[in-house]
Amino acid sequence: MIVRIWVIVYIVMVTSSLAEAEDHCVLPKELFPFTQTNSQKSLLKYSDIKRNTKYLRSLCTHKIVFTEGRFKWEMLLVYNPNHKKGPFWFLPHDNENSAFDAAIYAVDKYGGGLLSVLSSGDRYFHGQDPNRNFGTDIQTAQICSKQKYPAPLYSKVVFNIIDTYRGSGFPYLALHNNSDGWIGNGGSGTISILKSSASVQSYPSGTVYQGKAKGISDEDSLIYIAGTEKIPPQKKLKVLNHSGIHIKYEVVSKKNNDCSMSNYVVLKKGGNYYNIETEHGDVRSQKKMIDKLMNILNIHSR
Ligand SMILES: [Zn+2]
Repeated sequence: MIVRIWVIVYIVMVTSSLAEAEDHCVLPKELFPFTQTNSQKSLLKYSDIKRNTKYLRSLCTHKIVFTEGRFKWEMLLVYNPNHKKGPFWFLPHDNENSAFDAAIYAVDKYGGGLLSVLSSGDRYFHGQDPNRNFGTDIQTAQICSKQKYPAPLYSKVVFNIIDTYRGSGFPYLALHNNSDGWIGNGGSGTISILKSSASVQSYPSGTVYQGKAKGISDEDSLIYIAGTEKIPPQKKLKVLNHSGIHIKYEVVSKKNNDCSMSNYVVLKKGGNYYNIETEHGDVRSQKKMIDKLMNILNIHSR
């Protein structure tokens, strides 16, 4: 692997808003050295935005642009102007459309916001998995086989934004979609509650259903939690399982760091991490799981 330290070139923030009351949509200036305003209409070229215009009228939408090495990252920041501090969701994969729609539902209902990587609708951004890019130095990038170059700016910008809108005491939150089942079990995906290992353990909640999008009991509907202990915190596991949610627990260590968000949260940030996964297209189950998790975390609708 070639590892080079890339010079930080610049950060630009393109600010646009679809919200009617744009004065609500002012960003904290201290976050970024350069900002630039463009038209509201320009964001409609993104299918994520186009699908959700109805909800976005009451939310603030900004385009984040920054360059680190050869990557010119573009992301959508959406937040609820009436309740800026709240649950905040990170969505690294642009091909996971149900996750984006579910996040919009959550921001509209519970406040807070979301940050979504733009990658022309693809999972990878110019060959880099955005959810394997949270390594800040050469040593870490060498451990993380899927990180091409160390990315201190990427981690800094993403977590600065998350921590700006994340309510105090709130966990780190992510949303993903995956494909049906897992390869080796007749499916096309890589994730399933029926698959387990020492480092990614499965804790199903009752019956597991297989096949195309069978609701929250589907093998692909699950919440990832993460920590350094060999087994998950039992009380947390019990409450989540009891609400009908399958749980995967990821054992994180410096040695096995994969530079994903969960690993960065556990190793660098501290605090709780939840990633809600459903099959591509199953936005209904994802919304249901969001409601269940918010209820468990005592986060109320606004
Ligand atoms: Zn994903």
